[in-house]
Amino acid sequence: PFMDKEKIIYRGIAERVFLEAKKGVPHSKGNDWVPINTEYLKTVYDDLVTSEGVSVLFFSTMAAVEMKQEGVVDAIVVANKAGLTAYKAKLFIDCTGDGDLATWAGAGFDMGDEEGNVQQGTLCFSLSNIDPYEFSLVGSVHTNRKDGPIHKMLDSGKYNLIKDNHINDKYAGPGYLMFNAGHVTVDSTDPVSLSKAMMAGRKVARQFQEGLAEYEPKVFASSYLASTASLMGIRESRRIKCDYTFTLDDWLARKEFEDGIGRNAYYIDVHKSNATTYPRYGKGESHGIPFRSLLPIGLKNVFVAGRCISTDHYAHGSLRVMPPCLVTGEAVGVAAGQICRSKSPDVHNVDIKQLRNRLQQVGQLL
Ligand SMILES: Cc1cc2nc3c(=O)[nH]c(=O)nc-3n(C[C@H](O)[C@H](O)[C@H](O)COP(=O)(O)OP(=O)(O)OC[C@H]3O[C@@H](n4cnc5c(N)ncnc54)[C@H](O)[C@@H]3O)c2cc1C
Repeated sequence: PFMDKEKIIYRGIAERVFLEAKKGVPHSKGNDWVPINTEYLKTVYDDLVTSEGVSVLFFSTMAAVEMKQEGVVDAIVVANKAGLTAYKAKLFIDCTGDGDLATWAGAGFDMGDEEGNVQQGTLCFSLSNIDPYEFSLVGSVHTNRKDGPIHKMLDSGKYNLIKDNHINDKYAGPGYLMFNAGHVTVDSTDPVSLSKAMMAGRKVARQFQEGLAEYEPKVFASSYLASTASLMGIRESRRIKCDYTFTLDDWLARKEFEDGIGRNAYYIDVHKSNATTYPRYGKGESHGIPFRSLLPIGLKNVFVAGRCISTDHYAHGSLRVMPPCLVTGEAVGVAAGQICRSKSPDVHNVDIKQLRNRLQQVGQLL
């Protein structure tokens, strides 16, 4: 959701992406919980980056970080079809979700709750050939539908890989439903865990298709498991320790910051069986996102953006989602532009007033 229930609050590049992506789902009304047409969005992103002259390298993994001195990254080593290549830069922006770059450069991090348990992951999937007319009569198979098939599937005991009643469906195109459903325990910083989770997620998706066909046959009897996601859906991994850690108390207080670089209104959405729930914000309510939460302690030339920024476990449940990730990404991009000409740039010395002015000029809501 891009709204504070009154207006779009994630502006700048985030709003551009949102409004462009929306054209791919013309059947969807309103600006909240808009489904994504993934094939359409891929080309939105391709056009956005190439129109700005960005060089893109697909199928490439950062495999190592080389330091110039303590706290200063000299180069990243990338593995791809060209073998290993080192890329030097004055500044680096870590958007790996897991904070790989910052961690390997020596930044501290937190992960999960007090016991180190992270939120559950989900391998998203899609079903094609569902009956559109019958689906329009039921509207959804979401968890909240009391007579929905998920509850019958769980009661039956037949679908043993489906741990709980988590199921979100979105009508993305003709006869085509996309699912964020099922929970898989995964540590995305561990390649073995990640690989096992992918395979588990594929089996979970199959069980969903079979269970839905059994318990909502009018809609799903002829459905077809069209795809599972190409990446494991990771909700939480490392949260890099930065100059400021945004906390649950900050979220509850709707806190404002002098170094705020954007707004956030998303609720505390923690996918864990024993998670505490908190009341959602009311209409027009939001909090500020502090720039200091994007500046890793002890690193001079690395910014973090996206879900690996500095928060506590519960606040992460709010700031981890796509709109605030886009906003933090744009803020560090602008900040990098501001300081990249200096000989040895320091991310902790960005002129905040200038940054906020520039963000306001590109439409960001502060
Ligand atoms: C199942 C599920 C449903 C969700 N639903 C919603 C929703 O409805 N609305 C919403 O707003 N948010 C939702 N979210 C949250 C949101 O999708 C993520 O939190 C968000 O995508 C995080 O963005 P990010 O760019 O920080 O990280 P990611 O999306 O994880 O992207 C990180 C990227 O970095 C790449 N990468 C990682 N390590 C390396 C490396 N070493 N070298 C090179 N590349 C690397 C990864 O391949 C990936 O492409 C959902 C999340 C999940 C898992």
